Amino acid sequence: MSGLSQDDRVSCPVEKQPSTDSSITHKPVVQPLHGLQLASHAVLEKAQQWGRLNCSKCGRSRMFFCYTCYSLVGVSQQEIPSIKLPVKIDIIKHPNETDGKSTAIHAKILAPDDVNIYTYPCIPEFDTDKVVVVFPGPGSVSMQDLMQHLRDNVDGEPCPKRHRASETEGATRVARDPGSAAPDGAEASESRACLLERVVVIDSTWNQTNKIITDERLQALPRVELTTRKTCFWRHQKGKPESYLATIEAIYYFLKDYHEQCLAREYSGEYDNLLFFYSYLHSLINSAKTAAGRD
Ligand SMILES: [Zn+2]
Repeated sequence: MSGLSQDDRVSCPVEKQPSTDSSITHKPVVQPLHGLQLASHAVLEKAQQWGRLNCSKCGRSRMFFCYTCYSLVGVSQQEIPSIKLPVKIDIIKHPNETDGKSTAIHAKILAPDDVNIYTYPCIPEFDTDKVVVVFPGPGSVSMQDLMQHLRDNVDGEPCPKRHRASETEGATRVARDPGSAAPDGAEASESRACLLERVVVIDSTWNQTNKIITDERLQALPRVELTTRKTCFWRHQKGKPESYLATIEAIYYFLKDYHEQCLAREYSGEYDNLLFFYSYLHSLINSAKTAAGRD
């Protein structure tokens, strides 16, 4: 297990919030990946027994997926979870980064319709009204403030999902299916969902993140910072706060917070499978560390 602490790839180092229990030094160990609603890892266990296989597209030796071609290796699409996301995720990665160490590929493999990966300086043009960057620091808003920020931006612009209703009724209410009795909460939630279309996540080490976030094309985008979470990334670098998240962790926690705090919906594990590969690899690494007597 070489290189466990060699890489400090992060997407969004999150400032730690003042803690009221900071005087407690022996807190119970929190298992951040515990209790996730995940698909069975049996398919990965089986593929692992086969060992590394050659990618059918580029021929390189890979395990589970090819991080160059964004394709599966040794497992089929039907065998792994496929997740529909409430927003599009645009991941911008630094060209100097080693793809094999990135967890961004997990998102692309597991939510292929909603995730795109770009290599800086190649980034798409963004509509600044409905796009946010996940990035902490001065000027970043909390998730709670994000919706108000977006509302201020659109300033009464009608939601596209309302057009069906407004065309026929001259109203601005959300269209309902005939016979459907959607409660006001669901209606409001759907309305809020229209405010945000894309989320930009930066995939690079912290030092290189600065070059990307200061790019003028990203300057106009509002920034949101996540609720403090601790990483459990095995490549986590010594000396960095535990709140420096791996890219897939950042995407997962953003979506969970967005679901609960912005859409105001009860979270029922909808995006847990984004951590399908991550949790499996995490358990492998932990087992190896335990076996090596280091844990
Ligand atoms: Zn390949």
